[in-house]
Amino acid sequence: MLSAVRQFIYNPVCLYCGSFYVETHLYCKFCFTQYIEPRLLLNVKKISEQSEHAFLIEWFPGESDLISEMVYRFKSNRCPQAWLFYSRLFANLLCDQVDISQYDALVPLPGSKSNSVHANIFAKNLSKILGLPVLNALYKSPLAQPQKSKSAKERRQSTNVSDIQRLELFTKNETSNLKLIYVDDIMTTGFTYKRSRQALQNKNQSLLVTLFFRPAAIQT
Ligand SMILES: [Zn+2]
Repeated sequence: MLSAVRQFIYNPVCLYCGSFYVETHLYCKFCFTQYIEPRLLLNVKKISEQSEHAFLIEWFPGESDLISEMVYRFKSNRCPQAWLFYSRLFANLLCDQVDISQYDALVPLPGSKSNSVHANIFAKNLSKILGLPVLNALYKSPLAQPQKSKSAKERRQSTNVSDIQRLELFTKNETSNLKLIYVDDIMTTGFTYKRSRQALQNKNQSLLVTLFFRPAAIQT
């Protein structure tokens, strides 16, 4: 109930046309059917030998202000009902395409800020629907040296430093043998995902699920 009020206060009108007849998905019925629904296709793509990526909305940089605004709202932490709406949709479509019973748990990817909770929100929602536990086994450790004091070259190299780590609460044996679904709100380069797999020393087949996918501007 409170979450509905919160969402309404911060998102009182349709994201596209400004109509006051806004629904939980952040649009009015017309705009949702016309502009958003046709884009909601669950894509499952192979990203490496051991990994697949499933996402709902492809967001091309500069392509659509509509999707940019939507991403911004989702990151604002002020639309819990919309998260639930799209999580349900995502989970239902995922079950049609992927055998969920082979997986053991959902692992939210750690964010760059301590308050980045979106992967957690998404994972919790999916957990309720898919019946899989959420394993909060990762954290992002602050880099030993602040980014500002480094040269550009050092900063580029520092992305290779192991800054994502397994919580000591979980032993290597506990995390390395599981079949995991990694969860994030948006995927761009896939670096966090790669590092998270390394941190858990988990080499099993795994699935990365994100609501949005923003392909890198230049792909080689
Ligand atoms: Zn509208």
